[in-house]
Amino acid sequence: MSHQTFWKPEKKIKEKKSYSSLGQRKKSKNPIPDWKKDIFAHHQSRPSRADRAEFPLEVISELIEETQGLCQCGCGRKSTQTHHVMPRGRSGRGVKTNAMRVCDTCHDRIQTNEEELQGWITTYSLTYGPRFWFDEQDWEEYNRKQAARERVEAEKKEHLESMKPVMELITSAAGRTLKAKEVRLLEAMDDKQMLVFTNMISDALKNFSVPASSYGYGERFED
Ligand SMILES: [Zn+2]
Repeated sequence: MSHQTFWKPEKKIKEKKSYSSLGQRKKSKNPIPDWKKDIFAHHQSRPSRADRAEFPLEVISELIEETQGLCQCGCGRKSTQTHHVMPRGRSGRGVKTNAMRVCDTCHDRIQTNEEELQGWITTYSLTYGPRFWFDEQDWEEYNRKQAARERVEAEKKEHLESMKPVMELITSAAGRTLKAKEVRLLEAMDDKQMLVFTNMISDALKNFSVPASSYGYGERFED
């Protein structure tokens, strides 16, 4: 026993050492495979969060021209800054539809007044649509998630449709609607299981025609 307890940890340490030295050797010897390089390049080419919040100069100059250099609050002063209508801390991006040219005074005020901030968010939502602060990457992610959601919904709907025949079969044979836990049981089956189950029930009912509602086993036992 004592021999074993001594021997075990020693072996573990040895294993650990050889693992790490092997890892280091591997790292320095093997060059990065091309497919991995592609992934790294892809990640590096993606702009950072801070970059995405930055308004491009052309956006700013376009906006200055369109607003005749005035503060968009309507105070009449000249604009000096570009405000993120949806703040960058709330994922507001540096896109034109999220940009508002303002003067120093109005910018300070909006940024410390949640009610006014929200007011402009509402105005921009009405003008440019919900998610007016999205950049291309946001839309890409949003559309991808939306498509995935729709796919799941469609699959769910299809699954419920596939349950219908067997549900109707059981309902009419049993002479009652299915209980919630019974529906859940059917829902838990995948399509293949559903098919097997449907065929089985259908065959069983074909060869065993009992008038619905009477002489069920359950009823006799209850008596
Ligand atoms: Zn102003």
